[in-house]
Amino acid sequence: MSTAFRWVEQARSGRARAGHLHTAHGIVPTPTFMPVGTVGTVKAMTMDAVRSTGAGIVLGNTYHLMLRPGAERVRALGGLHRFMDWPGPILTDSGGFQVMSLGPLRKLDQDGVTFNSHIDGSRHRLTPERSTDIQHALDATITMCFDECPALPAAPEVIAQSMRMSMRWAARCREAFVPRQGYAQYGIIQGGTEPELRAESVRSLTGIGFEGYAIGGLAVGEGQDLMFSTLDVTTPLIPWESPRYLMGVGTPDDLLGSVERGVDMFDCVMPTRAGRTARAYTERGTLNLRNARHAVDARPISPHCDCLACTRHSRAYLHHLFRANEILGPMLLTWHNLAYYQRLMRGIRTAIVEGTLEGHAAWLRTEWSREDWTPDEMPPPDIPPVP
Ligand SMILES: [Zn+2]
Repeated sequence: MSTAFRWVEQARSGRARAGHLHTAHGIVPTPTFMPVGTVGTVKAMTMDAVRSTGAGIVLGNTYHLMLRPGAERVRALGGLHRFMDWPGPILTDSGGFQVMSLGPLRKLDQDGVTFNSHIDGSRHRLTPERSTDIQHALDATITMCFDECPALPAAPEVIAQSMRMSMRWAARCREAFVPRQGYAQYGIIQGGTEPELRAESVRSLTGIGFEGYAIGGLAVGEGQDLMFSTLDVTTPLIPWESPRYLMGVGTPDDLLGSVERGVDMFDCVMPTRAGRTARAYTERGTLNLRNARHAVDARPISPHCDCLACTRHSRAYLHHLFRANEILGPMLLTWHNLAYYQRLMRGIRTAIVEGTLEGHAAWLRTEWSREDWTPDEMPPPDIPPVP
């Protein structure tokens, strides 16, 4: 079988799609959630634990890895897959988002960005070419274009100028990309919440031609309604056969609504970050394990979850670990939250394949929003089992 990078449709339901992403490092069923492995580690998780949740692809951060340990060192040590023990596909971001967030520590020009490291203040420069080279050195399965993302709200002229610069940079990223069998580079659609600018951005990127398309510049404070309405005018313009990735999103409800609008891939720090702060995701919203009500509760977080936290430990034990500031608390709860996110995506995927997405989505939303729910009730068992 050829290992050409491609997305193959399995089923569709309206604009929602189920399929498989074929890559040099394996096949990933979509829609899929990518755990964030910022500095070459999904925080508080071993890679075996990440695998056990059913994750098929993880994300790494160019900005962090270029500063420490450095892309050339990772390359010398066999690439990021080997370095972090993840032989499966890895998507790396371009460093753009982090660099733009540095505020006064960075200086933007038409050619790239010069910035000071947040670690030791040392001076660095990222350009479209340099970002693409670094991702190549890391051996990223999916390379992202280096782009600029203005903070919202911003004037339409500001968003337009920024988007057009990102499109010029995208052409330079494509020049710098070394095509390899099973590898991909994604262009990033910008344009804020302006439909015409989003359409112009899609035209620019599809004109250049990429293996996949990301929707950037959302989930930056615009709210879910504007995010969804922007997806509504953007995803229909992307070629159907191309994978679509919504960057930095989101809550379980964001994921569901975005899949319904034709998105295939997601990444977000929410499940891992929440796990470190004692918050557990369930089919009925979140639980705060620090809360005293869990102190003598011998039940698991969820009887339907197959993670280590739920199969071996009680809510009372997790509560104790967080109260005692034990490192095992964040480890177990991160595991649980990633297991929940993967179960959520499997459930949605199965529903698309079986033609039951509408009912499944209605059920998920009802459970998330039930006002008569108390944490003393157990989450319901209706999530489809692991295939
Ligand atoms: Zn669990």
